[in-house]
Amino acid sequence: MGERITGYTELIGLMAYPIRHSSSPAMHNAAFAKLGLDYAYLAFEVDNDTLEDAVKGLRALKIKGCNVSMPNKTVIHKYLDNISPAAEMCGAVNTVVNNNGVLTGHITDGIGYMMALKDNNIDVIGKKITIVGAGGAATAIEIQAALDGVAEMSIFNQKDKFWNNAEKTVKKINTNTKCKATLYDLADLDKLKEEIANSYLFANATGMGMKPLDGKTYIPDKSFLRPELIVTDVVYFPRETALLKMAKEVGCKSMNGLGMMLFQGAAAFNLWTEKDMPIEYMKELLDIKY
Ligand code: NAD
Repeated sequence: MGERITGYTELIGLMAYPIRHSSSPAMHNAAFAKLGLDYAYLAFEVDNDTLEDAVKGLRALKIKGCNVSMPNKTVIHKYLDNISPAAEMCGAVNTVVNNNGVLTGHITDGIGYMMALKDNNIDVIGKKITIVGAGGAATAIEIQAALDGVAEMSIFNQKDKFWNNAEKTVKKINTNTKCKATLYDLADLDKLKEEIANSYLFANATGMGMKPLDGKTYIPDKSFLRPELIVTDVVYFPRETALLKMAKEVGCKSMNGLGMMLFQGAAAFNLWTEKDMPIEYMKELLDIKY
């Protein structure tokens, strides 16, 4: 790294709190080094109280851009000049690009999920999918899938604090895209079974399957799945959730959350550098199998 940093090196930041555990700095710095790009990526502990000053600093220092994670994803838009259509619809930003002083907010989580599907030769365009979730990850996937051309989407969520967000997402999708979205209560398991039965793909976009819900799934038994169904999970720790284990036993093609994580980074990398992240190299380096 010491030999790589010069007076010309461009900085990319990550603004979140807590953030020291993040794998993004290792991922992006390895990709910069592999491609010989004169950039460095550093994590900064920034919360809602320091975010405005941090964005002012980004402008003043002409920092090329940044990633944004919790608790700043739904707040940073206030300090930016432009917001991408997907970020506007999601109400969240995870990537900022500084183009000669003009700051634009993007959301690449949903793009990452769609790119991971493509990388796995899974084509959902024009098809029906069923997805569970109404939080940050789910909303990004649902909005991007609708924008990209998924024909029909059945969204399920439990009636918790995220229900209202699910209602808003369905309304936005039905108003702004050609996709037909419908919201159902996750407690209605008969409906869940029926919707999965006539879907091409079923996606978990909640923390179900991850600590403290590890080893658990809301799918009661294997009769909800069939071998032709594609099953995906946003969770990547553990690599194989109870849902993916069940899907494997039924013979479904499946995908865990590692691909989404890698490709949301690749999409941000491309926005900052206009270069493609060396995906196969990153998969090997980070031991990404999904
Ligand atoms: P969030 O807190 O914004 O949303 C939580 C969601 O989980 C809501 O839909 C909520 O209703 C649902 N939920 C909570 N408890 C539940 C239960 N017992 N049964 C059913 N549903 C339940 O969280 P988020 O940021 O959207 O993250 C969700 C998951 O996605 C996490 O596991 C996170 O690690 C993962 N994630 C993965 C990626 C990736 O790149 N692969 C990116 C972001 C998030």
